[in-house]
Amino acid sequence: MPGGTPGTPSSKTKDKIMMRTKVVVALYPFRAIEGGDLSLEKGAEYEVLDDSQEHWWKVKDEHGSIGYIPSNYVKEKELLGLQKYEWYVGDMSRQRAESLLKQEDKEGCFVVRNSSTKGLYTLSLYTKVPHPHVKHYHIKQNTRGEFYLSEKHCCGSIPDLVNYHRHNSGGLASRLKTSPCDRPVPPTAGLSHDKWEIDPAELHLLEELGSGQFGVVRRGKWRGSIDVAVKMMKEGTMSEDDFIEEAKVMTKLQHQNLVQLYGVCSKDRPIYIVTEYMRHGSLLNYLRRHEATLGANVGLLLDMCIQVCKGMAYLERHNYIHRDLAARNCLVGSENVVKVADFGLARYVLDDQYTSSGGTKFPIKWAPPEVLNYTRFSSKSDVWAYGVLMWEVFTCGKMPYGRLKNTEVVERVQRGIILERPKACFKEVYEVMRKCWAHCPEVRPSFRVLKEQLISVSQGLLND
Ligand code: ADP
Repeated sequence: MPGGTPGTPSSKTKDKIMMRTKVVVALYPFRAIEGGDLSLEKGAEYEVLDDSQEHWWKVKDEHGSIGYIPSNYVKEKELLGLQKYEWYVGDMSRQRAESLLKQEDKEGCFVVRNSSTKGLYTLSLYTKVPHPHVKHYHIKQNTRGEFYLSEKHCCGSIPDLVNYHRHNSGGLASRLKTSPCDRPVPPTAGLSHDKWEIDPAELHLLEELGSGQFGVVRRGKWRGSIDVAVKMMKEGTMSEDDFIEEAKVMTKLQHQNLVQLYGVCSKDRPIYIVTEYMRHGSLLNYLRRHEATLGANVGLLLDMCIQVCKGMAYLERHNYIHRDLAARNCLVGSENVVKVADFGLARYVLDDQYTSSGGTKFPIKWAPPEVLNYTRFSSKSDVWAYGVLMWEVFTCGKMPYGRLKNTEVVERVQRGIILERPKACFKEVYEVMRKCWAHCPEVRPSFRVLKEQLISVSQGLLND
């Protein structure tokens, strides 16, 4: 009988029953503002109804309400692991964990993070005794698979171990007391599902953050609640229609080390480009402003380079070329997060002085020979620029090639003369920079490889 005996499920419905329903848990709260979206309560569970789009999933909450939520705000329940704990910070580097804990400035404040050795975890703990500092302890495992910080106190799981040390310092510099609160929530890919056109009436514009090539950048609030940066494009500076098309693609690029594009206001002129707000502004100015403290913290400088490299490796994986990578085009947010901004924008600039390698605004000092000679951009020309960015970071924002004129720089680059090793820079790190400046693009490492090399240099030098 077609469809099977009444009362017994047909093979189709059987398939449906067999299909596991996917349940996710909210890692961050999310407030639905746009119709069709659904609010998330941190820690609550949701059933996923449609995860066919990468960034916005349709889910059902426990009351039966249905709507879209940002997929990077939830994690599948079965894969949740340590992520449900306040003290777990995932892929945070030693340097960023230190700044975060120092900023909190509370005795016994701690986090657990992924160690730079895959599969291992590290506990970072702040103590004021005998002076304010952060201690890092590897969480080890014995042959029975139990976790421990000191061999005398082994526990079946990391949460049990954390609980044990909440009550007993057991050899640690302090008992574990609190973990940092009010940590920033990540940006969403666009401000709502399928939304990249933003109504300017919903943007409340605040102070000016700076001005650049394309015009003024102001801080803003979207619908009174979400912090954004609004770039107001000077008219006639870019080929607008092409850019607006591209913006749809760009809102879908999402990575913790890329400045998130939320969308554009393209109905009126000037066009607004709306992005994630980064409270400490451009990396270049940040390096210059904090030279005294950063110059003495080589670990943090290397960590900034690794963060940029991670963002660039993501772009490379998506075959996306930046074309204007430099410290001035990266931004710094809270907790020393560094993100790459303005990727791909250079293609839409109309100003010849900026786009042609002979132009006065062309970023000559970041350009490899094949760009200078044939304007041939690729991920490998981004790698060259990345080497120069590393140099900018390790000199705390010096101008590459000092006062040399563009023509002199071009001549040097063609002859294979490269930038000198900055004083603060380890030999091992300079070796990586040099690889970025191989004359032939094919010889330069990819960002994927660079990332691995830098992480291993950092492990070797800084003893994670
Ligand atoms: P352009 O690319 O047009 O030259 P920029 O993007 O460099 O302009 O912006 C100019 C300045 O505005 C930056 O140096 C920075 O200080 C500030 N700014 C730009 N975008 C943001 C942002 N998303 N968050 C905070 N500040 C920003």
